[in-house]
Amino acid sequence: MKLPEGRRSREDVMRALRAFKKDDFAWIKGRLPLYIYYLDDDLLNLQCQAFSEYMVENGHGKLTVFPSVQRMESDVIDMCLDLFSAPSGSTGTFTSGGTESILLAVKTARDWARVNRSRVARPAMILPASAHPAFSKAAHYFGVEEIRVPLSSNYKADILAIRSAITDRVIFMVGSAPTYPHGVFDPIGSLAELANENGIWFHVDACFGGFLAPFAKEIGYPVPPFDFAVPGVWSISADLHKYGFAAKGASFFGLRNNALREYQEFRFSNWGRGNYVSPGIPGSRPAGSVAAAWAVMNHLGRTGYRDLASRTMRTRDRLIEGVEGIPSITCALVPELSIVVIGAENDTVKIPAVAAGLQERGWFASRSSNPVGLHFTVNPVHEAVIDEYLEDLAWSVRTATERQISEHSENSTY
Ligand SMILES: *Cc1c(COP(=O)(O)O)cnc(C)c1O
Repeated sequence: MKLPEGRRSREDVMRALRAFKKDDFAWIKGRLPLYIYYLDDDLLNLQCQAFSEYMVENGHGKLTVFPSVQRMESDVIDMCLDLFSAPSGSTGTFTSGGTESILLAVKTARDWARVNRSRVARPAMILPASAHPAFSKAAHYFGVEEIRVPLSSNYKADILAIRSAITDRVIFMVGSAPTYPHGVFDPIGSLAELANENGIWFHVDACFGGFLAPFAKEIGYPVPPFDFAVPGVWSISADLHKYGFAAKGASFFGLRNNALREYQEFRFSNWGRGNYVSPGIPGSRPAGSVAAAWAVMNHLGRTGYRDLASRTMRTRDRLIEGVEGIPSITCALVPELSIVVIGAENDTVKIPAVAAGLQERGWFASRSSNPVGLHFTVNPVHEAVIDEYLEDLAWSVRTATERQISEHSENSTY
């Protein structure tokens, strides 16, 4: 496309935008088991209104010219710090997403280590194999070598293997609450202890579960301690644009100790334009995503988040129960929050064939490779369609099995 010479009407442009969606998976009908965090039109409208109210303001100028944005941002950060049991003297930053929060964690740790672990010439970090690729991106961007350590048999970080991977060069370690590939909680307490014994920065990646786990716990689901209440947790990442139900472009990066912030911020003054300071990666950034997060958090309150958690977790329970009721498939691991990985029982059916069946029925079948399975991130949008999904899943398993049998008998005639 070239920039059109003439104007095109608003109606025409909007019609085109809507038409582009025709081949997308119907997330609003719950057809996507990932990427989407959606409750209902009511909350969506609030996000849109709040975002567009601050469409033009710039989050970069909040300290000097937009006290409104500064106010909303510090409210959001205070709410997050409180939710994650941060002690006094802690601080936080509103970021564009989980990746930025993680980049900041690694960058801040690296610059902290330059001063406080100054004998380390080539810094390294230890990642359980299930740590998000954003940590590898950070390793690549910031010149910190990554050491990925295999998981234990329950798909969690393996404390003994990590202990033996520690060298003088290691400056950073992480545990996930929970991990994205498997939806299980790494042993945060033991990892934090091990890191601190060795003078290593310890980060908790609660990007996925940060705004679901505390409320799932309040309604009675078992959730292990994972936040600043655990001694030795230096920093936390938690995505507002996932179970925080904020508009996309919103995450929280928290630091236990305000004194560490000097290693996070970027300052520059030799520019002929006064001091330039930014706490994160972007310069200009949308004030709208701050406003939307503020609006959603205040609109829902703890009651709203508990209700969301209850709808998510009850839907997850129905999914688990339904899967266990279908012959030949099973939960490939014990779900600890809202991620369910569905695997084949004793290799009786092939997962790719089941996935193909689901796609025939209009569901996007997100696959995982280790363990081989279908990966499902449960959301309130699935509440209304989970029975339909289970019917189509059962159909896909039956169809895949029949096709395998007929293929087998065809093959055996040769
Ligand atoms: C989503 C996610 C991230 C990355 O967040 P983005 O917002 O996609 O950049 C990091 N860690 C975990 C566990 C996640 O689920």
